[in-house]
Amino acid sequence: MKTIKHVTNIYKAPAPHMVGDGFRVHSVLPGGTRNEQNKVSPFILMDYGAPSYFPPTNRPRGVDQHPHKGFETVTVVYQGALEHRDSTGSYGKLAPGDVQWMTAAGGIVHEEKHETAFSKKGGKVEMAQLWVNLPKAYKNIQPHYQNLTKAEIPVVDITANSYLRVIAGEFNGQKGAASTYSPVNVFDVQLKKGDSVTVSFPAHFNTMAVLMQGEADFDGTAAKAVETVFFDQQGTEIMITAKEDTSLLLLSGEPIDEPIFAYGPFVMNNEEEIVAAINDYNAGKMGFLN
Ligand code: MN
Repeated sequence: MKTIKHVTNIYKAPAPHMVGDGFRVHSVLPGGTRNEQNKVSPFILMDYGAPSYFPPTNRPRGVDQHPHKGFETVTVVYQGALEHRDSTGSYGKLAPGDVQWMTAAGGIVHEEKHETAFSKKGGKVEMAQLWVNLPKAYKNIQPHYQNLTKAEIPVVDITANSYLRVIAGEFNGQKGAASTYSPVNVFDVQLKKGDSVTVSFPAHFNTMAVLMQGEADFDGTAAKAVETVFFDQQGTEIMITAKEDTSLLLLSGEPIDEPIFAYGPFVMNNEEEIVAAINDYNAGKMGFLN
Protein backbone atom coordinates (compact mmCIF):
# COMPACT_ATOMS: atom_id res chain seq x y z
CA MET A 1 0.00 0.00 0.00
CA LYS A 2 1.25 3.45 -0.89
CA THR A 3 1.38 5.88 2.00
CA ILE A 4 2.88 9.32 2.39
CA LYS A 5 6.30 9.71 3.95
CA HIS A 6 5.64 12.57 6.36
CA VAL A 7 8.13 15.29 7.16
CA THR A 8 9.66 14.66 10.59
CA ASN A 9 11.94 17.68 10.84
CA ILE A 10 13.75 20.36 8.89
CA TYR A 11 17.43 21.01 9.51
CA LYS A 12 18.68 24.52 8.75
CA ALA A 13 22.29 24.55 7.55
CA PRO A 14 24.71 26.75 9.50
CA ALA A 15 26.58 29.64 7.82
CA PRO A 16 29.12 28.53 5.22
CA HIS A 17 32.78 27.82 5.97
CA MET A 18 35.82 27.43 3.71
CA VAL A 19 37.23 24.02 2.78
CA GLY A 20 40.75 24.78 1.58
CA ASP A 21 40.70 28.07 -0.34
CA GLY A 22 38.34 26.91 -3.11
CA PHE A 23 35.12 25.69 -1.55
CA ARG A 24 32.75 27.87 0.47
CA VAL A 25 30.27 25.30 1.78
CA HIS A 26 27.29 24.77 4.03
CA SER A 27 27.25 21.48 5.95
CA VAL A 28 23.70 20.37 5.24
CA LEU A 29 23.43 17.15 7.28
CA PRO A 30 23.60 16.99 11.08
CA GLY A 31 25.97 14.30 12.34
CA GLY A 32 27.45 15.36 15.63
CA THR A 33 25.67 12.77 17.76
CA ARG A 34 25.13 9.01 17.46
CA ASN A 35 21.40 9.65 17.05
CA GLU A 36 22.04 12.06 14.16
CA GLN A 37 24.52 9.63 12.54
CA ASN A 38 21.83 6.93 12.64
CA LYS A 39 19.26 9.27 11.06
CA VAL A 40 21.48 10.10 8.06
CA SER A 41 23.01 6.60 7.56
CA PRO A 42 24.20 5.37 5.02
CA PHE A 43 25.15 8.99 4.35
CA ILE A 44 27.71 10.65 6.59
CA LEU A 45 27.80 14.30 5.63
CA MET A 46 27.11 16.62 2.73
CA ASP A 47 28.67 19.97 1.91
CA TYR A 48 26.89 22.31 -0.50
CA GLY A 49 28.89 25.10 -2.10
CA ALA A 50 26.32 27.72 -3.16
CA PRO A 51 27.33 29.81 -6.22
CA SER A 52 30.43 31.72 -5.17
CA TYR A 53 32.65 33.91 -7.39
CA PHE A 54 36.41 33.33 -7.46
CA PRO A 55 38.62 35.92 -9.23
CA PRO A 56 41.23 34.89 -11.85
CA THR A 57 44.40 33.23 -10.57
CA ASN A 58 47.34 31.28 -12.00
CA ARG A 59 47.40 29.03 -8.92
CA PRO A 60 44.22 26.90 -8.86
CA ARG A 61 42.32 27.12 -5.57
CA GLY A 62 41.02 24.09 -3.72
CA VAL A 63 42.16 21.51 -1.23
CA ASP A 64 45.76 20.24 -1.19
CA GLN A 65 46.48 16.55 -0.88
CA HIS A 66 44.79 14.73 1.99
CA PRO A 67 43.70 11.13 2.73
CA HIS A 68 40.34 9.35 2.98
CA LYS A 69 39.52 5.85 4.20
CA GLY A 70 36.44 3.73 4.85
CA PHE A 71 33.77 5.47 2.76
CA GLU A 72 32.98 7.15 -0.59
CA THR A 73 32.98 10.79 -1.66
CA VAL A 74 30.48 11.90 -4.32
CA THR A 75 31.22 15.24 -5.95
CA VAL A 76 28.55 16.95 -8.08
CA VAL A 77 29.43 20.04 -10.12
CA TYR A 78 26.71 22.57 -11.00
CA GLN A 79 28.81 25.59 -12.07
CA GLY A 80 32.53 26.10 -12.74
CA ALA A 81 35.01 23.26 -13.32
CA LEU A 82 37.04 21.04 -11.00
CA GLU A 83 40.18 18.96 -11.40
CA HIS A 84 41.44 16.12 -9.20
CA ARG A 85 44.43 13.81 -8.85
CA ASP A 86 44.88 10.83 -6.58
CA SER A 87 47.42 8.29 -5.34
CA THR A 88 46.12 5.54 -7.65
CA GLY A 89 47.40 7.66 -10.55
CA SER A 90 43.94 8.81 -11.56
CA TYR A 91 43.43 12.32 -12.85
CA GLY A 92 40.29 13.97 -14.14
CA LYS A 93 38.23 17.05 -14.78
CA LEU A 94 34.62 17.71 -13.84
CA ALA A 95 32.37 20.06 -15.82
CA PRO A 96 28.83 21.16 -14.87
CA GLY A 97 26.59 18.10 -14.71
CA ASP A 98 29.46 15.68 -14.10
CA VAL A 99 29.77 13.57 -10.96
CA GLN A 100 32.81 11.87 -9.46
CA TRP A 101 31.93 8.87 -7.27
CA MET A 102 35.17 8.02 -5.45
CA THR A 103 35.41 4.87 -3.37
CA ALA A 104 38.20 5.70 -0.91
CA ALA A 105 37.67 2.33 0.85
CA GLY A 106 41.10 0.95 1.86
CA GLY A 107 42.78 4.34 1.65
CA ILE A 108 43.56 7.03 -0.90
CA VAL A 109 45.33 10.39 -1.03
CA HIS A 110 43.93 13.05 -3.36
CA GLU A 111 43.74 16.73 -4.14
CA GLU A 112 40.61 18.60 -5.23
CA LYS A 113 41.10 21.86 -7.14
CA HIS A 114 39.40 24.28 -9.46
CA GLU A 115 40.27 23.35 -13.05
CA THR A 116 43.37 25.17 -14.35
CA ALA A 117 41.84 27.00 -17.36
CA PHE A 118 38.74 27.93 -15.31
CA SER A 119 40.99 29.32 -12.56
CA LYS A 120 42.79 31.60 -15.05
CA LYS A 121 39.47 33.11 -16.19
CA GLY A 122 37.80 33.11 -12.77
CA GLY A 123 34.10 32.54 -12.29
CA LYS A 124 31.38 31.04 -10.14
CA VAL A 125 31.69 27.63 -8.55
CA GLU A 126 28.60 25.74 -7.38
CA MET A 127 29.07 22.16 -6.21
CA ALA A 128 28.11 19.56 -3.65
CA GLN A 129 30.05 16.78 -1.98
CA LEU A 130 28.28 13.87 -0.30
CA TRP A 131 30.01 11.26 1.87
CA VAL A 132 28.49 7.77 1.65
CA ASN A 133 29.47 5.20 4.24
CA LEU A 134 30.65 1.72 3.26
CA PRO A 135 29.52 -1.47 4.99
CA LYS A 136 32.33 -3.00 7.08
CA ALA A 137 32.87 -5.71 4.42
CA TYR A 138 33.97 -3.05 1.87
CA LYS A 139 35.93 -0.60 4.02
CA ASN A 140 39.28 -2.13 3.05
CA ILE A 141 38.81 -2.86 -0.65
CA GLN A 142 41.03 -1.22 -3.28
CA PRO A 143 40.31 2.49 -3.81
CA HIS A 144 38.84 3.47 -7.19
CA TYR A 145 36.41 5.92 -8.68
CA GLN A 146 33.57 6.18 -11.18
CA ASN A 147 33.78 9.18 -13.45
CA LEU A 148 30.13 9.83 -14.34
CA THR A 149 29.87 12.40 -17.11
CA LYS A 150 26.73 14.45 -17.61
CA ALA A 151 25.93 12.38 -20.74
CA GLU A 152 26.13 9.10 -18.77
CA ILE A 153 23.67 10.15 -16.05
CA PRO A 154 20.07 9.25 -16.97
CA VAL A 155 17.67 12.18 -17.13
CA VAL A 156 13.95 11.58 -16.52
CA ASP A 157 11.77 14.42 -17.79
CA ILE A 158 9.04 15.53 -15.37
CA THR A 159 7.66 18.37 -17.53
CA ALA A 160 9.13 20.25 -20.50
CA ASN A 161 11.45 22.16 -18.15
CA SER A 162 11.67 20.03 -15.00
CA TYR A 163 13.72 16.86 -14.70
CA LEU A 164 15.29 14.35 -12.36
CA ARG A 165 18.81 12.94 -12.88
CA VAL A 166 19.35 9.44 -11.50
CA ILE A 167 22.92 9.62 -10.17
CA ALA A 168 22.45 6.40 -8.16
CA GLY A 169 19.58 4.06 -7.38
CA GLU A 170 16.40 3.79 -9.43
CA PHE A 171 13.55 6.12 -10.37
CA ASN A 172 10.46 4.90 -12.28
CA GLY A 173 12.38 1.91 -13.60
CA GLN A 174 15.35 4.00 -14.73
CA LYS A 175 18.60 2.76 -13.14
CA GLY A 176 21.19 5.25 -11.95
CA ALA A 177 24.67 5.77 -13.37
CA ALA A 178 26.67 4.79 -10.27
CA SER A 179 27.20 1.34 -8.86
CA THR A 180 27.05 1.31 -5.06
CA TYR A 181 27.98 -1.04 -2.20
CA SER A 182 24.66 -0.73 -0.36
CA PRO A 183 21.19 0.35 -1.51
CA VAL A 184 21.55 4.10 -2.14
CA ASN A 185 19.47 6.57 -4.16
CA VAL A 186 20.93 9.96 -5.12
CA PHE A 187 18.64 12.05 -7.35
CA ASP A 188 19.42 15.52 -8.69
CA VAL A 189 15.97 17.14 -8.91
CA GLN A 190 15.45 20.35 -10.90
CA LEU A 191 11.88 21.65 -10.68
CA LYS A 192 10.40 24.78 -12.22
CA LYS A 193 7.98 26.81 -10.11
CA GLY A 194 4.61 25.04 -9.88
CA ASP A 195 5.86 21.65 -11.09
CA SER A 196 5.52 18.49 -8.99
CA VAL A 197 7.11 15.07 -8.80
CA THR A 198 6.27 11.99 -6.72
CA VAL A 199 9.10 9.67 -5.69
CA SER A 200 8.87 6.29 -3.91
CA PHE A 201 11.39 4.74 -1.54
CA PRO A 202 11.18 1.71 0.75
CA ALA A 203 9.64 2.70 4.09
CA HIS A 204 12.66 1.79 6.23
CA PHE A 205 15.19 3.78 4.17
CA ASN A 206 16.55 7.00 5.67
CA THR A 207 15.33 9.71 3.32
CA MET A 208 16.15 13.40 3.11
CA ALA A 209 15.80 16.25 0.61
CA VAL A 210 18.56 18.88 0.54
CA LEU A 211 17.19 22.19 -0.78
CA MET A 212 20.05 23.97 -2.53
CA GLN A 213 18.09 26.61 -4.45
CA GLY A 214 14.48 27.74 -4.27
CA GLU A 215 11.57 26.61 -2.13
CA ALA A 216 9.32 23.55 -2.23
CA ASP A 217 6.32 21.99 -0.51
CA PHE A 218 6.38 18.46 0.90
CA ASP A 219 2.85 17.31 1.80
CA GLY A 220 1.95 20.69 3.27
CA THR A 221 5.34 21.46 4.80
CA ALA A 222 7.45 24.08 3.02
CA ALA A 223 11.25 24.20 3.04
CA LYS A 224 13.70 26.52 1.32
CA ALA A 225 17.41 26.75 0.56
CA VAL A 226 19.57 25.92 2.49
CA GLU A 227 17.48 23.45 4.50
CA THR A 228 17.31 19.66 4.67
CA VAL A 229 13.96 17.91 5.03
CA PHE A 230 13.83 14.59 6.89
CA PHE A 231 11.06 12.01 6.34
CA ASP A 232 9.57 9.24 8.46
CA GLN A 233 10.34 5.52 8.06
CA GLN A 234 6.71 4.40 7.73
CA GLY A 235 5.47 5.86 4.45
CA THR A 236 6.82 5.26 0.95
CA GLU A 237 5.78 8.27 -1.18
CA ILE A 238 7.16 11.79 -1.29
CA MET A 239 5.38 14.45 -3.33
CA ILE A 240 7.43 17.53 -4.03
CA THR A 241 5.90 20.72 -5.45
CA ALA A 242 8.17 23.63 -6.32
CA LYS A 243 7.02 26.99 -4.93
CA GLU A 244 9.94 28.65 -6.73
CA ASP A 245 12.43 27.28 -9.28
CA THR A 246 14.09 24.65 -7.11
CA SER A 247 17.30 22.61 -7.14
CA LEU A 248 17.51 19.79 -4.62
CA LEU A 249 19.33 16.55 -3.99
CA LEU A 250 17.10 13.71 -2.86
CA LEU A 251 18.99 11.15 -0.75
CA SER A 252 17.57 7.81 0.36
CA GLY A 253 19.34 4.68 1.48
CA GLU A 254 19.17 1.59 3.63
CA PRO A 255 20.70 2.43 7.03
CA ILE A 256 23.98 0.60 7.68
CA ASP A 257 23.42 -0.98 11.08
CA GLU A 258 27.08 -0.99 12.17
CA PRO A 259 29.00 1.18 14.65
CA ILE A 260 30.61 4.36 13.31
CA PHE A 261 33.92 5.71 14.54
CA ALA A 262 34.84 8.80 12.53
CA TYR A 263 37.94 10.94 12.78
CA GLY A 264 38.52 13.70 10.22
CA PRO A 265 38.89 12.06 6.78
CA PHE A 266 38.59 8.49 8.13
CA VAL A 267 35.28 6.71 8.85
CA MET A 268 35.69 3.24 10.38
CA ASN A 269 33.84 1.01 12.87
CA ASN A 270 36.02 1.41 15.98
CA GLU A 271 38.89 3.38 17.50
CA GLU A 272 41.55 0.72 16.78
CA GLU A 273 40.78 0.95 13.05
CA ILE A 274 41.10 4.74 13.18
CA VAL A 275 44.49 4.53 14.91
CA ALA A 276 45.57 2.02 12.25
CA ALA A 277 44.35 4.34 9.47
CA ILE A 278 46.33 7.28 10.90
CA ASN A 279 49.45 5.11 11.21
CA ASP A 280 49.01 3.76 7.66
CA TYR A 281 48.65 7.29 6.27
CA ASN A 282 51.68 8.57 8.19
CA ALA A 283 53.71 5.56 6.98
CA GLY A 284 52.81 6.39 3.36
CA LYS A 285 50.72 3.24 2.90
CA MET A 286 47.88 5.21 1.29
CA GLY A 287 50.27 6.36 -1.41
CA PHE A 288 51.36 9.76 -2.70
CA LEU A 289 50.59 12.19 -5.49
CA ASN A 290 53.24 12.31 -8.19
MN1 MN B 1 38.78 14.88 -0.22
